[in-house]
Amino acid sequence: MYQSHLFGPTRREAPREEESKNAILLSRGGYVYKTMSGVYAFLPLGWRVIQNLARIVREEMLTLPRAQEILMPALQPLDIWRESGRIEDIREVMYRLEKEDVGLGPTHEETITDIFRHSVHSYRDLPVSVFQIQTKYRQEPRAKSGLLRGREFLMKDLYSFHVSEEDLAEYYEIVKEAYFRVFQRCGLQAVLTEASGGVFSKYSHEFQVVSEAGEDEIFLNAAGDYARNKEIVPDENAADLREFSGGQVRKVRSIEVGNIFKLNKKFSTPLQALVQTEKGDRVEVWTASYGIGISRLMGALVEARGEIGTGPARMLWPREVAPFPVHLIDLTPDRQGEELYHKLQAGRDSRGGKVEVLYDDRTLGAGEKFADADLIGAPVRLIISKRSLEQGGVELIDWIDDRKEVVTVEDFQKMIVAG
Ligand code: ATP
Ligand code: MG
Repeated sequence: MYQSHLFGPTRREAPREEESKNAILLSRGGYVYKTMSGVYAFLPLGWRVIQNLARIVREEMLTLPRAQEILMPALQPLDIWRESGRIEDIREVMYRLEKEDVGLGPTHEETITDIFRHSVHSYRDLPVSVFQIQTKYRQEPRAKSGLLRGREFLMKDLYSFHVSEEDLAEYYEIVKEAYFRVFQRCGLQAVLTEASGGVFSKYSHEFQVVSEAGEDEIFLNAAGDYARNKEIVPDENAADLREFSGGQVRKVRSIEVGNIFKLNKKFSTPLQALVQTEKGDRVEVWTASYGIGISRLMGALVEARGEIGTGPARMLWPREVAPFPVHLIDLTPDRQGEELYHKLQAGRDSRGGKVEVLYDDRTLGAGEKFADADLIGAPVRLIISKRSLEQGGVELIDWIDDRKEVVTVEDFQKMIVAG
């Protein structure tokens, strides 16, 4: 895409009220626009990142046995919340419409259980596993962390239904593995963390990314691969904590990027979601829910990989997430890069995909172009200039592999195809 056509300008200054690194960098880079506290519009760069994250999440969820994607409405009747018994719990969180008995969904356990009970009646149709990528609404009193805590935000929520506790337990483990793959592909190191399970099961598991920007505190084991949320540690010196660690425990701040939860019969009992068993009796189904904060993931990536402060503000996206994996910057006075841009656009990468190139065709100085490129954070930068042409090609900077060289156009094309 021509950068001169890109909607959403980069800015020298972030809105003054923004405090968090992710909000400052993403506003300055033209990824998002804050319309009010905790509510962000995704501009083309930001929406590309979100779509890349969503694609990774979707691909991994579709590897789960029988999993299928759906889309549920944001508007929910309050009656199902009365039926589930959660209407009081949700009062402070749910945005409600004044004149009607409906609210905007903060989560979808009630909705999916209602759909399930009217759709599935036999053990033969289990397990059922459905997920959506959808906008959630929550009245968050402290929406000061940019994309980490929105009042409107994007979540992937998966729900599974099982005939037995054993079947649920088995499925839960498969989802856990898929979650690790998601976070790894997104370029984040997420730590499996024991957290509160509410009154229906002992624990839930969170996936936490260690970060000073996080609102959670966890106790991390010596190996750094397992943790326990402070919420469930009544006494920091307690014996169970020592036993859990087997070594040095560190208390660190972290960002919860995902949460998996055995709900057991929490919803199937009050909403009477029943299936007939092999023997012919009707039993309440076993359920679990599994969330990933897609927009929060984007914020977490900027917290982990972005830089603001004294030096130039910059971001570096992982290859699979970058809004544009290749940024071609033209410093020639007569758009000599344009032909190269068209060639690259026509090429295919090793997976047969289109190579998304952002072509900086603007008539600006090199300094301004580089400052914008730093904010856009493409993993590969190509610079075409009088000097690079004299040296026989374009200057390539691969920020991830930490490589800098002059390559010919043909060589570069071969490199992309080789992946
Ligand atoms: P938190 O403890 O951070 O308030 P939660 O436990 O209420 O989150 P869940 O209901 O488990 O969150 O939601 C699933 C996932 O959605 C979370 O793991 C998180 O990644 C994301 N998420 C939750 N609330 C928000 C929010 N206000 N803004 C952005 N993402 C959120
Ligand atoms: Mg949680």
